[in-house]
Amino acid sequence: MASQEGIIKFYLAFTPGDSLSAGEIAGINRWRGIMLARGLIGQDPKRYDGYGFGNISRRLPPYDAPAGHRRFVISGTQTGHIAVLGPEHYALVTEYDPDHNRVVATGPAKPSSESLTHSGVYDMDDEVRCVIHVHSPEIWHAAAQLGLPTTDVAAICGTPEMAVEVARLFADTDVRARRIFSMGGHEDGIVAFGRTADEAGDTLLAVLDQVRRG
Ligand SMILES: [Zn+2]
Repeated sequence: MASQEGIIKFYLAFTPGDSLSAGEIAGINRWRGIMLARGLIGQDPKRYDGYGFGNISRRLPPYDAPAGHRRFVISGTQTGHIAVLGPEHYALVTEYDPDHNRVVATGPAKPSSESLTHSGVYDMDDEVRCVIHVHSPEIWHAAAQLGLPTTDVAAICGTPEMAVEVARLFADTDVRARRIFSMGGHEDGIVAFGRTADEAGDTLLAVLDQVRRG
């Protein structure tokens, strides 16, 4: 499963376009830096066959857009090795259709291979403004002990099956209140989300602290 990391598995309709503004990415870019510093986002020859891992996104208005059309800015695919991202490293996802495994995006970079996991969360709750996907062996291995909502082991990240699993978690577990879940079939994969980037980032770091305290 680790070898699947970073490879786009959906049909991508990508039109190169202008960079987003620095302001549109400032909040998530700050948190991306915090996650990178902690090894939760990045790229390491010793991890996941050297593929970049982890990604971050934020919703863009209009916030009353229907599912499938909830536009978001997401870090570009294979940017894990870059210390500080600029607007040129982010993509704008404008439409997505998990049933047909399809993503429509524009911008200066192609979107993360895990865009359909992010859109799956946005479709479940229109108050969510930020989604962060990290790789944390510590949280992932403690997920059962922590009682974290966990997607089925058969669901691979960034696929329609993962979007279905995310929907199941929102229907059957307390994930909406906890704002974090583990990806059972995606080694070390954790997703946190929130009404702000701070809420998503703080949720993730609080759980990591909890694991470390034992
Ligand atoms: Zn991942």
